[in-house]
Amino acid sequence: MSRILVTGGSGFLGSHLCESLLEDGHEVIAMDNNVSGQTENIEDFVYHDRFSFFEHDVTEFIHVSGDLDWVMHLASLASPMFYSGHPIKTLKVGALGTHKTLGVAKNKGAGYFFSSTSEVYGDPEVNPQPESYRGNVDSYGPRSCYDESKRYGESMVRSYRDQHDINVRVARIFNTYGPRMRLDDGRVIPTFIRQALRGNELTVYGDGSQTRSFCYVDDLIDGFIHLLNSPVQEPVNLGNPDERSILELAELVIELTDSSSDITFEPLPPQDPQVRRPDISKAKTEIGWEPKIDLREGLKRSIDHFREQLESTSETV
Ligand code: UDP
Repeated sequence: MSRILVTGGSGFLGSHLCESLLEDGHEVIAMDNNVSGQTENIEDFVYHDRFSFFEHDVTEFIHVSGDLDWVMHLASLASPMFYSGHPIKTLKVGALGTHKTLGVAKNKGAGYFFSSTSEVYGDPEVNPQPESYRGNVDSYGPRSCYDESKRYGESMVRSYRDQHDINVRVARIFNTYGPRMRLDDGRVIPTFIRQALRGNELTVYGDGSQTRSFCYVDDLIDGFIHLLNSPVQEPVNLGNPDERSILELAELVIELTDSSSDITFEPLPPQDPQVRRPDISKAKTEIGWEPKIDLREGLKRSIDHFREQLESTSETV
């Protein structure tokens, strides 16, 4: 059994990770300031005897009593809608939050897991993106608060490893979806499902030819565990390489929800990446992981979840 600190513990990925670690017999200490996280996400296990939760902003000094085996830094404002609304918080959690949590790992002699992102590749000129691709980013661009904080975070992790010999893992996470995403998250899958279930038009940005590759949350968490259990201290892409256009995704959501909604086209946000697809060769060979849940199956599970949530939520969402 390990004792593990998870920041962003009440968020989408953080809460799934906490649950999975508890199932594997670990003790989990979760932290979140609930800016984008929600306590509903942890209600199924909040009273578990190996779980504790602290409402805390991880960009401020962090105190944890006792030993720790791992620090897993998942706190992040990962949705473009959230990070463009809170750009400074986004920079702080990726930069200062990473510094503080690395300090905890150093102090406790713990390993450190960093949740990085496909956004380190920016609007990529090569598709799919291998880990060796260095990216096409804009430090002064509209998405820079997110991209740059994660790039800085990776550099900070690398430096703690080099200077303090910390045992590190870096997951470059590609678009992930599933239950516990917020209905008002703004990201494309919860938005399309909400629109389709409500009978509203699906808002495709641009002409919908831009691509993304969507990974179901259970697969991603399984990838985290594989990475944690591997000796790999270099960044590893975690995602599902099944690449789809956004228009194709909209049509699939309409089909699977049996909706009569139409599609409407809205302006493409500035610097919206044109393509994104992980090259997961490294994950397959070095950590023995690949995703198993295909898009149709993952969308069906997500639709069931969001349908239930919509039924119990006010009409304003
Ligand atoms: N998108 C869209 N309609 C929406 C929300 C998003 O067409 O209502 C598009 C968005 O422009 C992007 C893709 O879907 O091309 C994925 O967007 P998301 O915000 O989910 O994540 P990103 O991969 O851009 O970080």
